[in-house]
Amino acid sequence: MAVTEPAPVAPPAAHEGILRRQALRESAARTYARSLPIVPVRARGMTIEGADGRRYLDCLSGAGTLALGHNHPVVLEAIRKVIDSGAPLHVLDLATPVKDAFTTELFATLPRQFADNARIQFCGPAGTDAVEAAFKLVRAATGRSELLAFTGAYHGMTAGALAASGGAPDVRVTRLPFPQDYRCPFGEGGERGADIAARWTESLLDDPKGGVPAPAGMILEPVQGEGGVNPAPDGWLRRMREITKSRSIPLIADEVQTGVGRTGTFWAVEHSGIVPDVMVLSKAIGGSLPLAVIVYRSELDVWQPGAHAGTFRGNQLAMAAGAATLAHVRENGLAERAATLGARMLASLRALSADHPSIGDVRGRGLMIGIELVDPEAAPLARTAGNASPPPAPALAAAVQQECLLRGLIVELGGRHDAVVRLLPPLTLTDEQATAVVDRLADALRAAERSPYRRAAAGPTR
Ligand code: PMP
Repeated sequence: MAVTEPAPVAPPAAHEGILRRQALRESAARTYARSLPIVPVRARGMTIEGADGRRYLDCLSGAGTLALGHNHPVVLEAIRKVIDSGAPLHVLDLATPVKDAFTTELFATLPRQFADNARIQFCGPAGTDAVEAAFKLVRAATGRSELLAFTGAYHGMTAGALAASGGAPDVRVTRLPFPQDYRCPFGEGGERGADIAARWTESLLDDPKGGVPAPAGMILEPVQGEGGVNPAPDGWLRRMREITKSRSIPLIADEVQTGVGRTGTFWAVEHSGIVPDVMVLSKAIGGSLPLAVIVYRSELDVWQPGAHAGTFRGNQLAMAAGAATLAHVRENGLAERAATLGARMLASLRALSADHPSIGDVRGRGLMIGIELVDPEAAPLARTAGNASPPPAPALAAAVQQECLLRGLIVELGGRHDAVVRLLPPLTLTDEQATAVVDRLADALRAAERSPYRRAAAGPTR
């Protein structure tokens, strides 16, 4: 797809002024705005148009939120219907026809065994709120407080969620190894690496001197997103299910990013067939508007009335947009489409790695794809030293992101060292758009490899 350059909707000075004022007025903590200096003014499907008139293919999709892309007609229609009906937009947690319809649609998509005996709690609007609610729930249900979480995890930015994320100081969280094929900490990868990771977890839990008190729950992502797109092997997930079940530890599946068809099944736990005790859901379930819930086995529902509350738990527009999104994904087989297209994109990207030693690894599931960039010059050295994985190249990844932007492609970075280029396109992307994404990325990589990226100031800033 050619990058067309329509007339700017705002004069260049206005576009630059907005960016300048943002830099002056907004917090130093701002993230995407630093590496993606664009001013979106219009968007449809996978395309975003900036105030300067430039167009971009959006492979960030609101950090994986936009299963149907921007402003999908079924989403807009659902939102308009609520507004035109005169229904109240703010209702706390009262029952409404909109909420009733959302809950029915959500339960229809969940694994049957799970949904048949489940309760739902609407949480504050963000994924991290739902993670906090899940922790509170399992603590109340078990009477224990400690949590089990994994290396490389990401669960949010509130204190409890942050504590369970990799890279944060351990606060009542025991960190366990998440299996990794590339950079396996046990030097194995594959089934053997996953087996060792599982054994470590098992032995730690059973060792009376292991220093791990009986935990309230285990939280995991079926595919780690921010951690660098690491799909959990199905067999390992089943082991985690057995290990937790036999020790009466509630298993919390964080499907905030993996849900709603993203990985090639409606929910990522379906790949392994495990039935978790709690599912944490947000992002795409709100059809681009903020919505977060936990769904859990009804036996865990020991909460007293008001045990978990919050003012913004009844976003009617988000529920309507979400119900329309869930129904559209289900009725149009978009999870299967994500599986097919994702496999094709993975194959094209892997083919690309033959000519690019700076591509260390290409991995993913469905339309959740990661390309780990490495230092090609350090590679032979590292290999002879017996280290299969060359050092990560965050400065190259940052240069690739910038070159992508110049070519009208928005990508995100992630992973332990911010050296993984991440693709999260909408599930509605066409074959032509998928090809355009790979072509632009390949071109950007070639340009970045030629550029003096190593001198780039401080690498990416997310
Ligand atoms: N869990 C996972 C797996 C996520 O990817 C994220 C966000 N990237 C969160 C939780 C937190 O969601 P939010 O940013 O909406 O708080």
